[in-house]
Amino acid sequence: MTFRRRRIPVVPESERDEARQQIARLQAEILRLRRALDALPIGVVLADRSGETLVENVAARTYHGHAAVLVNEAVERHLRRAINGVASGHNVEFIGPPRTVLAVQATPLEDGGALVTVDDVSERARLDAIRTDFVANISHELKTPVGALAVLAEALAEIDDPAATRRLADKMVGEAHRAARTIDDLLELSRTELGGAAAKDVVSVAQVVDDAVERARAAAEQHTIIVTVDNGPGDLHVIGSHRQLVSAVANLLENAVKYSDTGSSVLVESRRDNGCVEIVVTDTGVGIPARDIDRIFERFYRVDRARSRDTGGTGLGLSIVRHVATNHGGEVTVHSREGEGSVFTMRLPAGES
Ligand code: ADP
Repeated sequence: MTFRRRRIPVVPESERDEARQQIARLQAEILRLRRALDALPIGVVLADRSGETLVENVAARTYHGHAAVLVNEAVERHLRRAINGVASGHNVEFIGPPRTVLAVQATPLEDGGALVTVDDVSERARLDAIRTDFVANISHELKTPVGALAVLAEALAEIDDPAATRRLADKMVGEAHRAARTIDDLLELSRTELGGAAAKDVVSVAQVVDDAVERARAAAEQHTIIVTVDNGPGDLHVIGSHRQLVSAVANLLENAVKYSDTGSSVLVESRRDNGCVEIVVTDTGVGIPARDIDRIFERFYRVDRARSRDTGGTGLGLSIVRHVATNHGGEVTVHSREGEGSVFTMRLPAGES
């Protein structure tokens, strides 16, 4: 028996070198792509036509326990559909806290495989919920006075008695003012939200306080409330928008007046504290229950709806104040005791004096 030797073609050394370099280049390229995939905040899973996972980046592997089970289940389900040529997806939600919403989306690929992405859309979902809530609140807040106006107008049309007509007309004026106030506050809120800290003027704090006191004067006089101002020695300045700051301080003052007993007094102080300016509004009114303190800066939140309605509140004042403070790089805080009064402090970075 004779064996014939197979001849192995001899590859020149230079070509072998080139092939080695080519492989090294490809390996470096694959590594770069893997690193790029791992740097993505979105989870990415790539599978072949048999459903075998080819690539799974770091973000796709960050879920643990119950979350991992739900995410893997969703990835598997949509992956199978995508391999059959159908793009699909849905949102996986965890109550938390923090409440998390993950969008799992699968897309068929040309080679028969599929690509699945897992995107954390919690912030988007939170903003959507706020927007929906906001629109629902606006419609409710505007529907109430408009509905009341319709009922009052119908009653007015059927009444001859001049005294009753007068009473109904007064009520109609009240409801119309209420709708107008809500619209004014909504416009002010959207201006402060959208406008941000656009203005970079040097603003005199004493001037802001004076203008705010002027705005609250009519309400204070109506309730015989004395407003005392203490701006301390020397004029303080902040950088920002005079209009926004007056609106914020006036809202704090109007609240102090609204939620105080007739004949009491309200104090507005401004002072410098460690590179900051503090504008403090103190009242000795009804105060705020501890359980509501964390929520009073939310839009439309009122401690006592009936009382707020009686006093002409829209539930938007403190959200305007908070936006203005944030727009100026500052914050607003409150200390309050039910039945004793409240102290609202707006703390802003000081401008040059
Ligand atoms: P409103 O227009 O109802 O006053 P705000 O946003 O200004 O709305 O305030 C939210 C709620 O916080 C009010 O409804 C009121 O219950 C409470 N509040 C605000 N300021 C004071 C204050 N100085 N004293 C007591 N309660 C206050």
